Amino acid sequence: MSAQLINGKAIAAEKRKAMIAQVELMKQKGTTPGLAVLLIGNHPASVSYVKGKVSDCQEVGIHSQLIRLPGDVAEAELLNQITKLNVDRRIHAILVQLPLPSHISEQKVVQAIRPEKDVDGFHPVNIGRIVTGQPGFVSCTPAGILEMLRTIHLPIAGKHVVIVGRSNIVGKPVSLLFLNRDATVTVCHSKSKPLSLYTKQADILIVAAGKASLIHADDIKPGAVVIDVGMNRNARGKLVGDVAFDEVKEKAGYLTPVPGGVGPMTRVMLLENTLTAAMRQMEKGL
Ligand code: NDP
Repeated sequence: MSAQLINGKAIAAEKRKAMIAQVELMKQKGTTPGLAVLLIGNHPASVSYVKGKVSDCQEVGIHSQLIRLPGDVAEAELLNQITKLNVDRRIHAILVQLPLPSHISEQKVVQAIRPEKDVDGFHPVNIGRIVTGQPGFVSCTPAGILEMLRTIHLPIAGKHVVIVGRSNIVGKPVSLLFLNRDATVTVCHSKSKPLSLYTKQADILIVAAGKASLIHADDIKPGAVVIDVGMNRNARGKLVGDVAFDEVKEKAGYLTPVPGGVGPMTRVMLLENTLTAAMRQMEKGL
């Protein structure tokens, strides 16, 4: 039997629709949620991601401010911009589009953002909050994965979740989220050999390696829930995930497509984090 596809695009569209009313209510209470996006240089993928973020904000009524800085901007100037946004009352959320040019320290930039406005969830304070199970900001891709599973009412407690990839933006935070929800978690990486020894044990398999066709039908347990985070271009320039979709779909219980799976969820969770930031700041009278 063929896997049930989890339609991230449709889930995200529903969430955006619901947000319109939420934003309207906040506006009636005197707060228009505001997101500042800093884009450094002209990297085509970054330009396109930022465009998407700004248009998502427009769709739901969030105020967005795009700040474009030249690729050779001094680190001090970027930090200065962040300092100003940290105290700007119209801006509740700050996102610096990564990657940064090599002369700028990503760590310094991420740590300059006030944790209450760090909607990417990359600040060590927010990561520490996830580690200790406290409410903070969870980075958008891990949050989007959990939200998808919540939408399909998938039980997580007691399940064996296997994650392929240990990056700071996907693998590590998603492993903590599942652990906080009482799953048994295995995290794999490039030295986990043979990889299929681990992936075959997964009730829920999260693949975030950035390697097209890394996971085949033989690598999974029948009926497994397979979440494909990967985004790769194949030889024909088509966007593909890390999972060999056609064969895995015949064996998995649930599967996310690429495109149309995790990507749209990542985008919508940025809006959700921005609303949360605005709400928390509104409640604190900030
Ligand atoms: P990174 O390159 O930072 O990390 C990749 C991870 O995968 C590393 O931990 C690496 O191991 C591991 N890995 C690589 N090859 C193998 C292998 N053959 N076997 C086992 N593990 C392997 O990538 P990101 O986490 O940033 O992104 C992963 C993928 O997800 C990319 O395709 C990216 O484009 C996509 N992505 C998609 C998003 C979305 O919204 N859909 C958002 C973010 C990312 P090691 O640590 O040992 O090197």
